[in-house]
Amino acid sequence: HKNTYFRAFVKILLDVIQNYLTELFMIGYKTLAVPGPTNMPFEIRQAMDVSLEDHRAPDLPDFTLPLFEDLKKVFKTESGHIFVFPGSGTGGWESAISNTLNVGNKVLTASFGQFSSLWVKMCRTYGLDVVNCDVTWGEGVPLEDYRAILETDKNHLIKAVLACHNETATGVTSDVAGVREILDDLNHPALLFVDGVSSVGSLDFRMDEWGVDVIVSGSQKGFMLPTGLAIVGVSQKAMDASETSTIPRDYFCYANMLQMNKQGYFPYTPPMTLLRGLRASIDMMNAEGLENLFKRHNRLASGVRAAVTAWGLKNCAVDRKWHSDTVTAIRVPQDIDANDVIKTAYYKYGVSLGAGLGPLNGNVFRIGHLGWLNETMVLQALGGVEMAMRDAGIRFLPGCGVGAAIEKYTDTKAPMELAAE
Ligand code: PLP
Repeated sequence: HKNTYFRAFVKILLDVIQNYLTELFMIGYKTLAVPGPTNMPFEIRQAMDVSLEDHRAPDLPDFTLPLFEDLKKVFKTESGHIFVFPGSGTGGWESAISNTLNVGNKVLTASFGQFSSLWVKMCRTYGLDVVNCDVTWGEGVPLEDYRAILETDKNHLIKAVLACHNETATGVTSDVAGVREILDDLNHPALLFVDGVSSVGSLDFRMDEWGVDVIVSGSQKGFMLPTGLAIVGVSQKAMDASETSTIPRDYFCYANMLQMNKQGYFPYTPPMTLLRGLRASIDMMNAEGLENLFKRHNRLASGVRAAVTAWGLKNCAVDRKWHSDTVTAIRVPQDIDANDVIKTAYYKYGVSLGAGLGPLNGNVFRIGHLGWLNETMVLQALGGVEMAMRDAGIRFLPGCGVGAAIEKYTDTKAPMELAAE
């Protein structure tokens, strides 16, 4: 036994030394292929390379008021309010609960991945009465179950329905419009909360059309910024609910934020540098055009999916209708540890891949394909993945995944080409 432990110890030690040395001598760019934080464009970096400024300056509203207005276009809302809190997506989740609900309120939720599950856990922490649909990871919001549960809720005890638009852990996109349709069909007044952390700014999201009451997003994914902002869209219906909600809140209080935002200011010191970056981010999105941006994400994702098929591996999202255009979780063969692929990709080839989260750890690795990204950058990530997979013992013809993606990209027209026609 002593011998076995000693050998294991020496192996770990050698691995650590080898990884350290490989990283030390690595030359060239690292490839960031995690589903957030994403690649930050030079324009955004430059926009944030400014002296720190006075957040109570008399002319600040000249900057902030148009920023709030332009954010509305990204969320596709005219009637909603967009609040930019210092924080991250998780803070945005908390704001939805604490501003609109009361302890003991029933909420309808579904868990089908790490992030949807964590929001459900937060609901329980807040003392909400959670009616949860436990869904197989790899599927999305279970519309039929939601309908069945809401149908029996004749007294409208369910006060909010939660939907994770894009489950980043499994690469699954859900049908938010479908949830709205059910609520409307049943004339059910529950609020609709949506997690759009890995969808807003990358996938088509329509706050007004889908009747979303609180949409939660963050700065480090589609917005191509550093982490640090929870960007939250709130409907007037949710603002009205906040008037009678009794859960204590202060930092994330919508009413306080609205009162100050109306004048172009914030209730506390805002992260001005990030707001300058956010301005540049929105300008870049507008220059590309949101619809072109969605098509680009679809095109990039289609190459990744083609590669997965060519490798003979399985997408964690079990059906085409769930396939996400921002992240793909890839199942490795049963006798392989996905963490070996991830570690080799990172240390030996300088490629950061997303790990399998929760019960998926060791079974999947994830490729993020969102934000400031083009075909060549995706091919670079796929090439790194191929080398790491070969090292980890996964058998496939080298280049077949990259080749399949190249075929996808060259046999179809890029969104900018289509826009020019
Ligand atoms: N929701 C989803 C879908 C996410 O992908 C994440 C983070 O990756 C979160 C919520 C949590 O956001 P944050 O890490 O910014 O707090």
